[in-house]
Order: sequence, then structure tokens, then C-alpha cells
Amino acid sequence: MKVGDKMTINRVNSIEVRKINRNAIYKFLYKRDPISIQEIAQTLNMSLPTVTQNLKELQERDLIIETGLFESTGGRKAKAITFNSHKYAIGLDITRNHVGIVLIDLSGKLIKNVRKQYPFVNSKEYFAGVGNLVQQFISDCTIESSKILGVGIALPAILSADKQRVNYATVIDFKGGSVKDFSEFIPYPCILSNDANAAGFAELWNEDDIQNVVYLSLNNSVGGSIIIGKNIFSGQNQRSGEFGHMTIVQNGRPCYCGQKGCVDVYCSAKILSDSTNGNIAEFFKLLRSNNEPQRTLWEEYLSHLVIIINNLRMLYDCNVILGGYAGAYMDEYIDQLRELVSKRNSFEVDGSYLHVCKYKLEATAVGAALQHVETFINNI
Ligand SMILES: [Zn+2]
Repeated sequence: MKVGDKMTINRVNSIEVRKINRNAIYKFLYKRDPISIQEIAQTLNMSLPTVTQNLKELQERDLIIETGLFESTGGRKAKAITFNSHKYAIGLDITRNHVGIVLIDLSGKLIKNVRKQYPFVNSKEYFAGVGNLVQQFISDCTIESSKILGVGIALPAILSADKQRVNYATVIDFKGGSVKDFSEFIPYPCILSNDANAAGFAELWNEDDIQNVVYLSLNNSVGGSIIIGKNIFSGQNQRSGEFGHMTIVQNGRPCYCGQKGCVDVYCSAKILSDSTNGNIAEFFKLLRSNNEPQRTLWEEYLSHLVIIINNLRMLYDCNVILGGYAGAYMDEYIDQLRELVSKRNSFEVDGSYLHVCKYKLEATAVGAALQHVETFINNI
């Protein structure tokens, strides 16, 4: 090795180390309330000059801000530093009949959302229409386009490993589709996500203490995601978490997938909302006043749901989150659900592992948008 080569390697290493330090400082600030330079240095075990230099770079890039001064017990007051949340991502939830659009900031906070009836059609006109909806939404948000990281697009579909193409889709007719179908009409970086995976990802965002979770999405079709060590477990064919097509009743009712007795036929949100013209809020309103047939439908629904929840607990031994249109209404039934699942459990006497989703609205679109936030944070 020549001296010049060695110097180049050392230089690359020092650039790498600086990048790692910068990223560690940024991620540290991302999760916390405003904090002083001294505390950052102390907690991350870095020298004050290293922290100061990195903060200067982050500030020049408008990624952090000073929010004021801490009260001091003597001497100079310390500056309070926090991350700058003023970058944004857009998320789309594409369903058979609707398009949901959200704007989130860098912290993952939902700033604005709309939901339009816009039935999916695999045609240029449809994708151009979605492009128009996105442009209109952004213009209504009055946000500079330079501050938008990108658009995450969630679909009820199984994607290729590189998330560029659609390998399988029956809820919408989009088999063989591609991210390019959308991005042709959306002038921002676009990425695709599976809908249930996106929603599960949103549930775990900023939850430092939870590493593993199973998310059961009770939408008009049932799906889910398995998150292990904060990462989505995709499976060999990107088909993990397709809980909707586990068999729950041998030779049971026919499922849209062609099989019989699938979970989807017994636990989709449609099973409930079909009794109220598709209005799930109305279903739960009538259930609260003990109306029929809502009460009987609910009892039957629960009898299947608790089996699925218990099976998921037996399989993964981690928290189970109920989400989707139906899951979002289950806060007031959580005690009953926990009691029912604990009765089926061979090892546990309570059902405290069971939770209801925190995002009641647009979890899927938020999760799709968060993919851009994650990439941004990881690349600082
Ligand atoms: Zn099925």
C-alpha cells in the first residue's frame, strides 16, 4: 500500500466517523424534548467540540433549531437545542373505492388529511387523477414543495421485494402494476408499501420500548403485519401477515380468494358495517344501544376474533394490536376482549398483551409517509 492510499483510507474513515456521530446526535435529538449541548455530550459520551461541530453542521442544514435558554443555577445559561420538524411527507392510502391523503411532519404528527371517493381503475386517467388530487392537497396545505420529502403510496397488494412492482392484488385490479404508474403524475419521490405493513409501521413509530408486535388489520379485508426487532418481517414471498387467509372454519363460507372458511369472511370490518350500509361508526353506535342485528353480529364476530388473537399470541408471543376500520372502535371493548382471549390462553391469566391501535385515522397513509421520514433520518 502506498502512503497516498493509506491517507485516502484514513480520510474516508474520518468522514464515516463524522457521519455516524452526526447521525447519532440527530437521532438523539429527534426523540427528545429540547436539550443542552452539555447533556448531549454527556449522554452520548462525545467530547464537547465534537458535539458543537456537528450541531453547527446540522444547524447550517436547517435540521435543528435553538428554542431558547435553560434556566441556569449560575454562570452562562445553556442553549436548548431541538430537531426541526419542518419537513414533510405525504402518504396515500389507495383502496378499492377511496383515496386517503395525509400530510405528516418530520415527527410523524398528522397535520392534515382528506379522504375522497375515487374508485381504483388500472388506467392512465386514474393515475393522472390521483396525481391531481395530490397536487391539489399540497397546494391546500400551503407548503413549499422543497420541504416535501416524498409520497408514500400504500396499496392492498403484495409487492415485489424491491417494492417497485405489484406481484399480487385481488382487492384492486393492479397485478403487474408499478410505482411508475403513480410517479409519472406525482413530481416527488414515490415509494410503494403494503397497506397493513404501513399501518403496523405507524403504530410502532416513536415507541422505543416495543420491539416486537403483531398488527391485525380489521379493514374491509383482513390483513396484518409482523414486526420483529422494529423491522417488518416480510417472509419468503412478501406474503407474511396475510392473516385474512388463515383458515378458521373448515369448509366454511367462501372467501374472495377462492378458498373457504378464511378469517376474512368472519372478521373483516364489512361483516359489521354491511348491516349499516357500510358505515362502521353507525354500526358501533347501534351496538352501544343494544340494537339488533348489530348485537348478534358482534357476538358472532367476537367468537371468531378471539380465536385469531389467541392464535397470534401463541405463534409470536408478543403484543397484538387491533387496527383497521373495526379495530379503531375497540377501545371501549378492550376489557371484554382481554377477558375473552385470556380464557382461551393456555399460559396466561390476563390478556394485557392485547392493545387497540393508537392511530384511529389514516394509519395506513401515515405509515406510508413515514417510510420517507425514516429514510431521511437514516441518511443524515
Ligand atoms: Zn381467503
